[in-house]
Amino acid sequence: MAFRENDAHFATKALHEGQEAEQWESNAVVPPISLSTTFKQQGPADFKKYEYGRSGNPTRNTLEACLASLDGAKHAITFSSGLAATATITTLLNSGDHIVSMDDLYGGTNRYFRKVASRMNIETSFVDATVPERVAAAIRPNTKMVWIETPTNPTLKIVDVRAVADIVKAHPGIFLVVDNTFESAYFQRPLELGADIAYYSLTKYMNGHTDVIMGAACTNDDALHERLRFLQNATGPVPSPFDCYLVNRSLKTLKVRMEEHQKNSLQVGRWLEKHPAIVSVRHPGLPSHPQHNIVLKQCYGHSGMISFYLRGKLEQSRKFLSALKLITLAESLGGYESLAELPYLMTHASIEEKERVALGVTENLIRVSVGLENADDIIADLDQALRVAVPNC
Ligand SMILES: *Cc1c(COP(=O)(O)O)cnc(C)c1O
Repeated sequence: MAFRENDAHFATKALHEGQEAEQWESNAVVPPISLSTTFKQQGPADFKKYEYGRSGNPTRNTLEACLASLDGAKHAITFSSGLAATATITTLLNSGDHIVSMDDLYGGTNRYFRKVASRMNIETSFVDATVPERVAAAIRPNTKMVWIETPTNPTLKIVDVRAVADIVKAHPGIFLVVDNTFESAYFQRPLELGADIAYYSLTKYMNGHTDVIMGAACTNDDALHERLRFLQNATGPVPSPFDCYLVNRSLKTLKVRMEEHQKNSLQVGRWLEKHPAIVSVRHPGLPSHPQHNIVLKQCYGHSGMISFYLRGKLEQSRKFLSALKLITLAESLGGYESLAELPYLMTHASIEEKERVALGVTENLIRVSVGLENADDIIADLDQALRVAVPNC
């Protein structure tokens, strides 16, 4: 079995959509960084396209046009971080509204719903959305938003986006957000699967160089987009023109980077599956993944995200991570460099012990963001660190 066939024109769009040289007076082939915060008006309230940098900026618009095309969306809007996008999307709701989200969710999203949205009298139900019926069962008369993430972090469980979208579509007035950060627009396009908003932390694969914090929301819904534009201008979480320039530049290599992340993570995953110090491997692109069939149906491939259970406990995990030489022990993911972490003590430490274990976030679960180094070098580093951590395997 193989993944769905990807859009043959993806790379062309990434290189050219929104990038027309004629839009600049200089005919610049590379979009300039437009730093001005204000724009001269012909007469009072008589301006061409731009008025003030919070409501619009030429470098940002260039990036947004390119992003929208990659997701097959009519609109894209960028934010100063992924969480700024989360906060702004949540302000589409009113006090008294309800959210259905997932038990296995990016920590910052979980924290935002539990500790911030709750204070605005917006309650969230956290369900196991890998069973779509649980989403249906959690919907109430005041539910306004369903927010899912797939693959999940760090156990890489899969949500059937189309199945959830069908449930949401049966309830007019509810919109579906899919956090697509882990696959990027190259390997998964939620709008095609029925989502109303494709959400990104651009900080990860979309930028891919570990040097920009930014977020985005792509949609085909004119009304949702207009409301998000209004809310962004009214509350202020806009990205800087310099960061927009960097992300726009990074999108030019998204396809090449993602193909290479996939190739390396598959090679690493296959190698790990045979290693005696490993209990099991989670990689959505490998047939051993319990939901591999859904992955093949809804994704065009899989990124560099992989997790595995090593033989042992906290002590072995600590030894393993400290022994790594090439792979960096750090949070975050999706950059060109390989990173490894221990979700139990790092990204997921704030979740209650009982809940963590129920989700499979145990002392011996390692998450790796497989980078673009030579795969044999990555494997050699994993091998030497596993030998240090689990000596008699
Ligand atoms: C990092 C991340 C976010 C938050 O994005 P920031 O850019 O760090 O604010 C949201 N969802 C997922 C899946 C992430 O990995």
